[in-house]
Order: sequence, then C-alpha cells, then structure tokens
Amino acid sequence: MKRIDILTLFPEMCGAAFKESIVARGIKAGLLEIDCHQIRDYTEDRQGKVDDYPYGGGPGLVMSYQPVKSAYDAVLAEHPAEDGRKPYTVYMSPQGTKFTQDVARRLASLDRLIIICGHYEGMDERVIEDIVDEEISLGDFVLTGGEIPAMAVADCVARLIPGVLASPEAYENESHSDILLEYAQYTRPETIAGRRVPEVLLGGNHGEIELWRRQNAEARTMAKRPDLYREYERRERLKNTYYFDNSATTRQWECVTRRMEEVSDRFFGNPSSLHRLGFEAEKELTAVRRDMADLIGAEGPGNIYFTSGATEANNWVFRGILPANPRAGKHIIISAVEHPSVYLAAEAMKELGYEVDAAPVDADGRVNIERFTALLRPDDTALVSIMHVNSETGAIQPLSDIVRAVRSVRPEALIHSDCVQSFGKLPINVKKLGLDLISVSAHKLHGPRGTGFLYASGRVKMRPLLYGGGQENGMRSGTENLPAICGFGTAAAHICAELTENRAAAAAHRQIFIDAIRNGLRTYVINTPLEPGTDPAHGQEAEAELSSPYILNVAFPGLRAEVILHTLEKYGVYVSVGSACSSHKKDRSRVLQAMGLDNKVIDGAIRISLSPDNTREQCEYAASVLVREVKQLYALHSRTRQRK
Ligand code: SAM
Repeated sequence: MKRIDILTLFPEMCGAAFKESIVARGIKAGLLEIDCHQIRDYTEDRQGKVDDYPYGGGPGLVMSYQPVKSAYDAVLAEHPAEDGRKPYTVYMSPQGTKFTQDVARRLASLDRLIIICGHYEGMDERVIEDIVDEEISLGDFVLTGGEIPAMAVADCVARLIPGVLASPEAYENESHSDILLEYAQYTRPETIAGRRVPEVLLGGNHGEIELWRRQNAEARTMAKRPDLYREYERRERLKNTYYFDNSATTRQWECVTRRMEEVSDRFFGNPSSLHRLGFEAEKELTAVRRDMADLIGAEGPGNIYFTSGATEANNWVFRGILPANPRAGKHIIISAVEHPSVYLAAEAMKELGYEVDAAPVDADGRVNIERFTALLRPDDTALVSIMHVNSETGAIQPLSDIVRAVRSVRPEALIHSDCVQSFGKLPINVKKLGLDLISVSAHKLHGPRGTGFLYASGRVKMRPLLYGGGQENGMRSGTENLPAICGFGTAAAHICAELTENRAAAAAHRQIFIDAIRNGLRTYVINTPLEPGTDPAHGQEAEAELSSPYILNVAFPGLRAEVILHTLEKYGVYVSVGSACSSHKKDRSRVLQAMGLDNKVIDGAIRISLSPDNTREQCEYAASVLVREVKQLYALHSRTRQRK
C-alpha cells in the first residue's frame, strides 16, 4: 500500500487520526500517503448542499451522487493510477463485509485504496453501484458517519505496511495475526497493588518464557474467545495429521457441513408432506437427484434412488432387485475381488437357489476377460456385478469389455457395478458404459456418512428392499435424510467439477510415494497395476489406465502390515492394512489372495489412499517417514533373525 484517499464531509476529523504517533511517523518517513478530501468542495449546488431527501419518503437525508462522484474523479485526476487501473474503492457501511485482520491484510497488499465515508441516512445507491468495489463494516452497529470506521481501517492497514512498526516481530503472535489472542503483557514494577508479574517472565529463560506465553495465549483464547479456540484446536489436529486412508473414509468438507446445517435449519419439513415446508424440502431433494443423474450421465433423476450408502445399494441389487426378475435366470457372476457387501450378498442368494461364480483376476488384480466370458451362461445368467475400482489395490476393472461380453452372450442379464471408489475420481457415464445399476457412497468423497445412491436404468424391474412409507418412488421407504443427501450433493458437485485436475494431482502425489519407495528401499512389492494399458481393445480413455491414481497398495514382505501401520501412526501418518471394511478381521485379504500373491506379500501389504485434500508437502513427508521407518523395521527384523 502506497496511498490511501479518504472522501469525507469531515476531513479535519479524519486527518487528525494520522497526525500523531505511529502512522504519522510512517507518513513522515515516506512509507505511505494518506489524504482526506472534502466532498463538499465538489458540489455543484450553489448552497453547497451534498444531500437531499430520500425518494419515497422517510426520515433523514441521503448523500447525493454528484458531489461524491466529482470528488472521486478529482482524486483520480490528481493522482492517476500508474497502471491505468481504477484504484480499489471501499464504502464504509454497516451493511458491508465485517472488517477483520484478514481483510486488513488483503487491503494492505494493494497499491492504492480509496475509502468513501457516508453520513446521515447513507449514500445514494448509485454511488455504490458505480464506483464501489466493496462495502466494509466495522461491526454490527450503526455510527453517525463513516469517518471513525475509515480511520480504523486506514490505521489498521497502515500499520501492516513494512517499516511503519519499528519491529517486524510486533506482528508475530499479536492477537488476530493468526488464531490465538496475544499472551498477557506486563511491565515495571515487578509488584504493584499486591500483584506480582509471573515468576517465569523474570527468570530470563527464553524457552520457558516461550512456553508460558503459548500456554497463556491458549488459556486466554479459550476463556475470551471460545469460537477462535475451537478453530485453533481443529487446525492443530489437522496440522499433525497426514491422512492417507481416504478409501476407507474421508474428512467431511466444511462446505458440506455448512450445507447440512443450512438444510437442517431451513428445510426441516418432510419431503412427503403436502404443505409448503414439505414442498420446499422436496424441491431440494429433487435438485440433488437431478444433479446426481447429470454427474453419471443417467437418463434422468427418476433413475437415482437415495440409500443409506453403498452397502445398502449393493444388497438391494441382490436381495431386492434380482428376485424381481425371476425369469431372468438363476446365475450370478461377481468378481473374485468384490467388496464384502457384494460377495456376501451374492453368497446369501445361494439359499434362494442361485448359483454364484466369481470371475478370477490376473496378477494385476483385473478381471480376466476370457475367463469371465467363459462363465457367462446364454440362458441363465441373471446378474453380473463387477466393481469399477478395487478398493484395496486401485485396479480399474475393464468394464467396457465386461459389458460387451455380457451383451453378446446374455443380453438380458443385468449389469451392476460398485462405483464407490470411482465416483468423483474417474469419469463415469452409465449410458456410455452400458451399465444397468451402480452403487455410490457419499463419505468416500468428503460427503457425510450414511448416504449414497443406487442408479437403476429404465430396463431394471425394481422391487423394494425396505417397505414402509413409499419414499423414493415407492422403492425405498424411510424418511429421506435430506441434510445428508444435500451435503452429498455439495461434495459431489465440488469433487466432480475438478475431477480432471484432482486426478492429475493424485497421480503426481502417488508418484511421490512410488519414487520414494523405489529409490529408498530394496525390498517391496507394488500390488497396484501401474503401467498404462496398451491393449487397443481397451478403447475407452478411462480404461487405458490400469489403476486409480488415488490408491497405492505396496507390500514389504517379511514385515507385518499392522506393525508398519502403527509405526507410521506415531508420526501422524495414517494408512491402512488391506480394506478398512474388513481390516479389523484377522483374515488375509481375499483380494490379494485372488491375485495369487504370496502370504508374505499379503501380510506386509499396506494401502495408501489419497484425496484432493492431500498436498505435495504432506505426501513428501509421509513418503519419507514410510521409507525411513520401513528401513528401520527391516534392520530390526534382520538383527532378530540373526540372533535366532
Ligand atoms: N441507514 C444506514 C443503514 O441502515 O444501513 C445507516 C447509515 S449510518 C447512520 C451513516 C453512515 O455511517 C453510513 O453511510 C456509513 O458510511 C457509516 N457507518 C455507520 N455504521 C457503520 C459501520 N458499522 N461500519 C461502517 N460504516 C458505518
């Protein structure tokens, strides 16, 4: 900031603030200029009037357009902008953005600032429309004029200009410089009115003084501004958390939480109710349904059924929808690497006389298309359910090839895909892919837990899994969880809008781990297929990649994955062992077994799963901790073996 011009009816009052003390010294030293301009000098009214009665009646007077605009033009003529651009212009108003230290920092970073002060009842709206970039308020109260707010803004901005304060450290730790309020300050004498300065401040031990000040700042922030303290605690928690277990679940985004709060508060009516509140709630629900349909290229919103998540959606496909199509056949094909909510639901169908085949996968964890095709029965296969992205390895299944094979051998069969790990991360177009059913969950993409949806194409004969009030077009009863569904909508819109950029960032971030492992360790096995597919049969762009860039499964044979996980946790790095849904079980990963991996590889396999929230710095830190700790664990392991 080099120059501030204040347009006011009381320039002497305003100017007085900058004639004393710190800001005056800054001006004298040539660090900035502050000029206050009398608006009245520019009026074309012969009586010197600068205001008039409000149109439409009402109390008081309103400042007129002409003198303010003329004063503004005169300032620009006297001090033309160097780059020809109009200087940033703010109007002090109780209706504006609340002035905070962040706003001050933003303004201080500009070259020039023009501040307009209102008076009386305020300003002709056309001044604001014509020349004002931002309205700024000093707080939720009304003063007689904009002069005191303008002085406060100019003073606060001026002291941020380098050199205005004698010592740059003065900015550090002061209240609102970051999040904590400043610690308590004391000066001579040591004891006054029976109160003594805290002993630690007299001792001269800088480490102890630092610690005391930090604790004092925390304590007084907690007492005086619990709102700031809550935010401080949240930031501290996140600062030391390097979360790479995003395939298990993700941190709910703040925008999602805010949307959920808004919906709980504003649209609390039951979408099934006939009154206005019910109708408004239903409108919100329909809007999200429409957005979801658009995001997956579905025929329309009527093909989206909100559920409690993907587990319910997957179960619905087997236990609800499959029996609704009894003439379709009695044969089910899943893959050998499905999530338990698919393979256990398929298993349970055996009790109802269905036969289930699990299509084998190759060493890269992807379904072998020839062996899959051989399982298809031209007159009996009723349902094929193959996930899009494997949650443990990130392998992308060749869905187009699978759909092509099914349609040529058994066109009547329904094709379902569990898209939990791909929605919001890879492009999905159900119509282009030729899928009949897909399952999606919100909490894998920074949305809330407990919601998801099932997409069902028009050719699917639907039958409910849950009976009751007939919600979701009679197909899924239970009052809709509107706040969660709307939060899901917000998360999905955000993540899908940046899908391409996020995907590229995830690939670069995953590469940081791969490079660190390859360069830093001798013993490791990467279980995620990494080389790009060269088979021209994999025509679709999305399938040219063999794995989702968001997942890396890597094994350290000879070590135990749980030991690695808990070691990393000590340094704030969170990864997982196999799939989180089954990681509390002691069994070996079915997915890695299906890939034909050695038990030693399976027992030492961890999964690093990313999200758009992960930064390059976080990945670099986590990758270096991983390499360092695995090296140490291997060293310990070989010493223990030698002793034996
Ligand atoms: N009638 C206006 C309203 O209700 O929004 C308030 C007008 S106020 C009495 C007169 C002027 O004081 C305003 O035009 C504005 O420039 C200034 N002002 C008053 N309160 C302010 C605040 N909290 N922050 C910034 N400027 C304020």
